[in-house]
Amino acid sequence: MSIKQRLAKLNPRQQEAVCYIDGPCLVLAGAGSGKTSVITTKIAYLVQECGMSARRIAAVTFTNKAAREMKERVGQMLKGKEGHGLTVSTFHTLGLNIIRAELKALGYKPGFSLFDPEDAKALLRDLMNKDAQVDADQINQVQHQISEWKNDLIQPGQALSHAADENEQYAARVFEAYVRHLKAYNAVDFDDLILLPVVLLRDDPEALARWRRKIHYMLVDEYQDTNVSQYQLVKLLMDERATFTVVGDDDQSIYAWRGARPENLVTLGEDFPRLQVIKLEQNYRSTGTILRAANTLIANNPHVYEKSLWSEMGQGAAIRVVVNRHEEAEAERVASEILTRRIKESASWRDFAVLYRGNFQARLLELKLQHYQIPYKLSGGTSFFSRNEIKDAMAYLRLLINPADDNAFLRIVNVPRREVGPGTLEKLANYATERGISLFAACHELGLEQQLPARAVERLGRFTHFIDGVRQRMDQGDAIAAIRGMMHEMDYEAWLYQNASAPTIAEKRMANVWILIDQLEKSMQADPEESTASEDTETDTVEAAISRLVLRDILEQQAEEDDTDRVQLLTMHASKGLEFPHVYLMGLEEELLPHRNAIEAGTVEEERRLAYVGITRARRTLTLTLARQRKAFGELMDCAPSRFLDELPPDDLEWEGQPDREDPDKKQARGKDAIAGLRSLLG
Ligand code: ATP
Ligand code: MG
Repeated sequence: MSIKQRLAKLNPRQQEAVCYIDGPCLVLAGAGSGKTSVITTKIAYLVQECGMSARRIAAVTFTNKAAREMKERVGQMLKGKEGHGLTVSTFHTLGLNIIRAELKALGYKPGFSLFDPEDAKALLRDLMNKDAQVDADQINQVQHQISEWKNDLIQPGQALSHAADENEQYAARVFEAYVRHLKAYNAVDFDDLILLPVVLLRDDPEALARWRRKIHYMLVDEYQDTNVSQYQLVKLLMDERATFTVVGDDDQSIYAWRGARPENLVTLGEDFPRLQVIKLEQNYRSTGTILRAANTLIANNPHVYEKSLWSEMGQGAAIRVVVNRHEEAEAERVASEILTRRIKESASWRDFAVLYRGNFQARLLELKLQHYQIPYKLSGGTSFFSRNEIKDAMAYLRLLINPADDNAFLRIVNVPRREVGPGTLEKLANYATERGISLFAACHELGLEQQLPARAVERLGRFTHFIDGVRQRMDQGDAIAAIRGMMHEMDYEAWLYQNASAPTIAEKRMANVWILIDQLEKSMQADPEESTASEDTETDTVEAAISRLVLRDILEQQAEEDDTDRVQLLTMHASKGLEFPHVYLMGLEEELLPHRNAIEAGTVEEERRLAYVGITRARRTLTLTLARQRKAFGELMDCAPSRFLDELPPDDLEWEGQPDREDPDKKQARGKDAIAGLRSLLG
């Protein structure tokens, strides 16, 4: 299909958004109105109609899954070399690529480590425990605060001088030490992936010129979820030319907790007075009934811009609300229904999606799906990377590319067992701190013998010698072969067998490690074309591939490749931008959706947007399920139906089973008006 034919398929407003290239453009529209379609068509338009090189175009979005979908859609439009060098990625991957290309300017050494939130937490724990014993809550609070500061581009010095109270002063001091230590480890954390590029582009005119030469046009999907630093990144890159298109929907803003600022939609108009704002109003995704439910629900929130969505898809089936005795019955119901409905509707497994508020809700469902032998794919979860064997393997990889990575060192120096005790490690750490060197470097130092028994020094020496040897083999020849060889040489498999409760578990774990290494290999082969940083030299491909692995892109990709036909299980957060013919939304209960924390914090509006996102994923049928009882903190607790159920148009709902409404406590929890509404609804 030519680009002209593609354009002809869009409605006039969409065409306008695609063809407007004279200045900054904002497409503001509700769910399913074709915002992402505008972005993908526009990429093809820029290349095929305006003759822009794909290398000069960067499209960014929020989740890996969304980036992949977008890549796929664009891939179908661009032929052969047309798409060469195009960047379609998450903000974080774009940031990672900028950092990799600008390491020198940023003052980092090659082979930097990317700390995931767990690593960052471990570092914070160390720093905070120096002064006094702190608990997990305090660490989480400080971590969250630091993340907020970083997303708002606030430096430690500023944080300290603006600290409102003692707690903030303390957090600011930890922040300062944290930043210093990360740098010493030659490491960056997740927030740095955006922060460092922004600071660089802001303060270094040459770097800015380099990147402005490189990226000529930017497109941003899910713009409502950008935070301050992400917005700055777009602004810095695009400033004077203002050649960008951003699309968003303020009703789908669900990342306030990660610093997202929906006000960025308004700021955009102030920063770019020439901004062309285009609204789309036709929904091409959902039936009239589903759309009405979404519109009615979200009308309960205040609005930045008024929108009215309509659809020509017909009314479709009523929305079913299925009340279950308890959570197990709920899971059972969803699984057995998918089984029968697939046949009744002659649907594929992949036509079904089950969405929920928290990943823990998937556990029971997984068991039921397994029971019925229904193929499924769990996405958005971090399960693969939180596995111990994967964390071990990643720590080895990280230490190989960055010997200064003390966290990685500590994780594996004794895995498999090398008889290095905590006493030895403590002395080693003191020695390293005194000299301002890494643990790994300290093992190499001669003076160490005075501090430690000869046996301990010898064991540490053996370990570093082993790592150095692998590193040498990686540099000399086939890096992947060297890494596989390392796993065999230290007999990691034997270690797994010693530590697993059953041989099959150990087997599975070892298989995971090989999957990881296979993915690393694949990613290295794909690298030269994929990356934005065309300046990459051959030698840092292992490093690049490993840091991308930490970003979790690659394994999800692998999962994607093998999900030919599976039921999709995902959190509502992860479902953004996606669509499915049949959607099950689980756990429509007070304290779950809206979440208890949100009720307490008074942020129910954000939960409502989340429900809106969930509902608008459905194309043909939507089923809402809830349980009357659910296990929490080891006890069976009564659950009240979600207030959001009261906010849906009663005539469009078809109830199966009745929620338990007689308990006075619950009545109180839900508010009298809501109860009255539901009662009348049920007759
Ligand atoms: P969300 O807010 O959920 O991200 P969106 O606004 O990005 O939604 P898209 O995903 O781009 O919407 O489009 C929703 C569906 O409508 C897709 O299946 C897309 O192919 C289809 N679609 C978009 N525009 C048109 C059109 N003009 N004609 C027919 N179908 C369309
Ligand atoms: Mg979209």
